[in-house]
Amino acid sequence: MAARVIGKSTAVASSSNLPDYERGRASFTWADARRSLSGVNIAHAAVDRHVDEGRGDVVALRFVSELAPPRELSFAALALESNRFANALEGLGVKPGDLVFALSGRLPELYIAMIGALKARCVVAPLFSAFGPDPVRQRLRAGNGRVLVTTAAAYRQKVAPVRDDLPDLEHVLLIGDDASSVDGPGVQALARLMARASTEYSIAPTGAEDPAFVHFTSGTTGMPKGAVHVHDAVVAHEATGRFALDLREGDVFWCTADPGWVTGTSYGLVSPLACGVTCIVDEAEFDAVRWYSILEQERVSVWYTAPTALRMLMKAGAEPLAGRELSSLRHIASVGEPLNPEVVAWGEEALGKPIHDTWWQTETGAIMVANYASMPIRPGSMGRPVPGIEVGIVRRDASGERVLDSQGNPVLVAGPGEEGELAIRTPWPSMMRAYLNAPERYASCFAGGWYLSGDLARIDADSYVWFVGRGDDVIKSAGHLIGPFEVESALMEHPAVVEAAVIGVPDPVVGERVEAFVVLGPGFEPGEGLSRDLMAFARRRLGSAVAPRRIACEQALPHTQSGKIMRRVLRARAQGLPEGDLSTLGASR
Ligand code: ATP
Ligand code: MG
Repeated sequence: MAARVIGKSTAVASSSNLPDYERGRASFTWADARRSLSGVNIAHAAVDRHVDEGRGDVVALRFVSELAPPRELSFAALALESNRFANALEGLGVKPGDLVFALSGRLPELYIAMIGALKARCVVAPLFSAFGPDPVRQRLRAGNGRVLVTTAAAYRQKVAPVRDDLPDLEHVLLIGDDASSVDGPGVQALARLMARASTEYSIAPTGAEDPAFVHFTSGTTGMPKGAVHVHDAVVAHEATGRFALDLREGDVFWCTADPGWVTGTSYGLVSPLACGVTCIVDEAEFDAVRWYSILEQERVSVWYTAPTALRMLMKAGAEPLAGRELSSLRHIASVGEPLNPEVVAWGEEALGKPIHDTWWQTETGAIMVANYASMPIRPGSMGRPVPGIEVGIVRRDASGERVLDSQGNPVLVAGPGEEGELAIRTPWPSMMRAYLNAPERYASCFAGGWYLSGDLARIDADSYVWFVGRGDDVIKSAGHLIGPFEVESALMEHPAVVEAAVIGVPDPVVGERVEAFVVLGPGFEPGEGLSRDLMAFARRRLGSAVAPRRIACEQALPHTQSGKIMRRVLRARAQGLPEGDLSTLGASR
């Protein structure tokens, strides 16, 4: 699988932030990284510090939208506005440790409120703005949310219908000119509150272990979990921004994730600002032509996006790209789902830059494994552990169960290439410190000094990590463990296939048989001929033991709202079982 390598010129390698991986790893310590931030309050490290050090005029956030001209906030302006918000919260009697939820589109006020709440040492819990009332109610209840920052429209549609079920919610602060159109207990206009608040604020001493964020997982494998993160996480955000995303002074960085998900706050706000770079925020939704225009017009130099989005751009073809001047683009990275090698190569061909995969989870809080700017990419690999992070592979037995020794400690695989569960040596600054209301589940993620990720992977002799599949998605067939990613990647190499999902379906003979669901690209029609061709293509690539027994063409695959394929829904469907109440998981699309 590692046959193809996309190389780097010596010039790129020597000018990147991690020119020599081995030496960078050997000399790195979290303690040094922490010291360079001069204090761990996230808002200080990401915003105020730059003003104190004379970089207040640099643009921190630049908001672009379809209709209005761009709006900008410099580091200095963001520092003052977030001071106002911190004062406003204190004026309301909100205390350190209280949960402040945020539910809105990607508006300046949302970002100001998040930074201001961190200054007041409140815990920020961002919600995805497309959630309906039920996912909003569940999450606000799970966190006993005391404050909610939202818009009048979102309040009317998503909060008012469930307000009686939210006894802890005291203050609802509405963004926008139409705030007075809504009435309800504790509801008031954010602008009025801000106008009365002072721009002077001094952040009280903040402990590295003080909680800062609650991020809810995507709900790909089941009920979303609320992962609690602390202020010390900013140390990992700054370091990974530098190493994995290669962020440098003067960069224009665009992270396409919504701040309702961990990527959109960790890398759409905290990490780039901690690195002092300008962050583009697109207020609108995906559109191939607009996305290419943003890359071009905003002169984006570093772009962090997701495989689903990249596949949608591939599907849109060459036309929206024609004549574009994308010479500012220096580094492209991806996260969230397996990045099939074809997409890495497409980046190189269509955009002139390959895609650098990175791996992490809501629970890890920051990037743990990455392909670096200075290093050749092995397409299909997630890269190598970031400095400060040690990864291991925990053995799984033939039935897929974790292997533990007599003391309950995980047993690591014997050597390179053996598949097992991806684990990370504890602790690291952005490691989750709790799951909301689920201490036992939290405890079950750790054993013998390792965090157990639930993802299956292998590590090669050069410490590149290869994704095999989620533990829940791995297929046990005729005594083999088959990772869906390998099968999906092979199917996506077929010219007709733009998206693929592979599952195991119970089978009396082999335990589970491999079945695939594919979405065809424009100009391809499902039919006998194409099915036969796809089956033959898969058998040639994968061999008959691993190739799917059945390939079904679908109009679309089920995704979470954050864009990930939900194989559990396909498994339930294949077995004629109920698919679950997806609306309550915020997972229907
Ligand atoms: P839930 O935990 O609720 O089921 P989720 O795991 O999708 O949802 P996230 O924390 O948003 O929630 O996603 C992390 C997961 O995404 C990883 O555990 C992994 O399965 C997948 N993932 C992230 N990056 C990559 C990558 N580069 N390659 C393959 N898979 C990835
Ligand atoms: Mg998960």
